[in-house]
Amino acid sequence: MGLGMRMRALVAVVGFMLTALAVDALAATQVKSVRVWRAPDNTRLVFDLSGPVQHSVFTLSSPDRLVIDINGATLAAPLEVNSANTPITSVRSAQRTPTDLRVVVDLNKTVTPKSFTLAPNQQYGNRLVVDLYDSPADADPPVPTPSVATTPAVPVTPTQPSIKLEPVPNGKRDIIIAIDAGHGGEDPGASGSRGQHEKDVVLAIAKELQRQINAEKGFRAELTRTGDYFIPLRKRTEIARKKGADLFVSIHADAAPSTAAFGASVFALSERGATSETARWLADSENRSDLIGGAGNVSLDDKDRMLAGVLLDLSMTASLTSSLNVGQKVLSNIGQVTSLHKRRVEQAGFMVLKSPDIPSILVETGFISNANEANKLSSAAHQQALARSIRTGVKQFFQQNPPPGTYIAWLRDTGKIAQGPRDHTVRSGETLAMLAVRYQVGIAALRSANGLKTDELKVGQHLEIPSTVLAAQP
Ligand SMILES: [Zn+2]
Repeated sequence: MGLGMRMRALVAVVGFMLTALAVDALAATQVKSVRVWRAPDNTRLVFDLSGPVQHSVFTLSSPDRLVIDINGATLAAPLEVNSANTPITSVRSAQRTPTDLRVVVDLNKTVTPKSFTLAPNQQYGNRLVVDLYDSPADADPPVPTPSVATTPAVPVTPTQPSIKLEPVPNGKRDIIIAIDAGHGGEDPGASGSRGQHEKDVVLAIAKELQRQINAEKGFRAELTRTGDYFIPLRKRTEIARKKGADLFVSIHADAAPSTAAFGASVFALSERGATSETARWLADSENRSDLIGGAGNVSLDDKDRMLAGVLLDLSMTASLTSSLNVGQKVLSNIGQVTSLHKRRVEQAGFMVLKSPDIPSILVETGFISNANEANKLSSAAHQQALARSIRTGVKQFFQQNPPPGTYIAWLRDTGKIAQGPRDHTVRSGETLAMLAVRYQVGIAALRSANGLKTDELKVGQHLEIPSTVLAAQP
């Protein structure tokens, strides 16, 4: 405990008992630093600690400020905060007792605080996280969420409106692709030997993919994360659902214990058991995200839980079939621009793929732990090529499987896109009758297209789904 700190302690506390000075403050946890992350609707303060603490948080108004009492702690160094673009105007601190630290955050608007502590993990030690949520009434948040209107996806001249602003014929809606850049903020993800962070590489690819998808008529892309901030895994799927996503694509670039590992892979959810050891390893490391960034402020309420359960039973199988299908198309296209780690879509228990009602894939664009791939992943040309291959795979999938009511469905139904043959890999529990309903073809047509003598199917069997005969439009 330095002299300056003793001074602060003495100045701050009224009625402070001299005997308390005898307490060995060195035994207390030290608050080492504070980091600030700005998200579209909240500001996150992360205090790095040398050990566990008890804490409490409350707000005061006129002027707005937030008081954080950290018990069993002293300050290791003055807190320096980069508060640009946040409601924070300054951060002050004082020892209330030799072991109780008070931090006062001065604010220029009202916030709603949520706080929790995090246990140490591979990247960080003990942390205290305080999230300051903007009040919903804030008309002018510090970082506005980009929208089609304010951030055109394609260059727009005043006389030529963006393609996204054109009215779609017959009011047919766009197919919505939620693009999820992995990690962010507090959670850097995997790191390359030259300090490349997965969170930065995947955000660049995600933004490029959004730009390319928005240039396709009949499609619209939404990002779950638009900057360098943390989003819990469940919140990512929640954002996708709120945006009305028809497909969820999570973008990652992982590390492996072996720096020689290379190549891209595509994952869909497995209900139980990963298809390979690598898949299990990756799923564990990706799911660790919530331990790094903390999911303490997010929970499914009971209604969501019940709904999720029901939806899970009803649509998980259909979603998974679509996920495997779109995943295979994306994988084939990625294989044109980079090496593949695995030639088939792998399945693993990634938390972020657990939307029961939205087909979801996770693309590992390469191994950032491999020096050669890390360099490629950091280059704009390779990021564009990867985005292009993902876009192509996604587009191929939706041209064959357009959701009803979309512009792409309208194109197909009016004969502007031929509904060609598709293939299907039989999964456990599927029957010929189920597939006939799902693909809207007759059982007899399925039998004859595949030369089936009986209706018995084997798991893993490949079936050709014949072209759909489309009814003429009125
Ligand atoms: Zn990742």
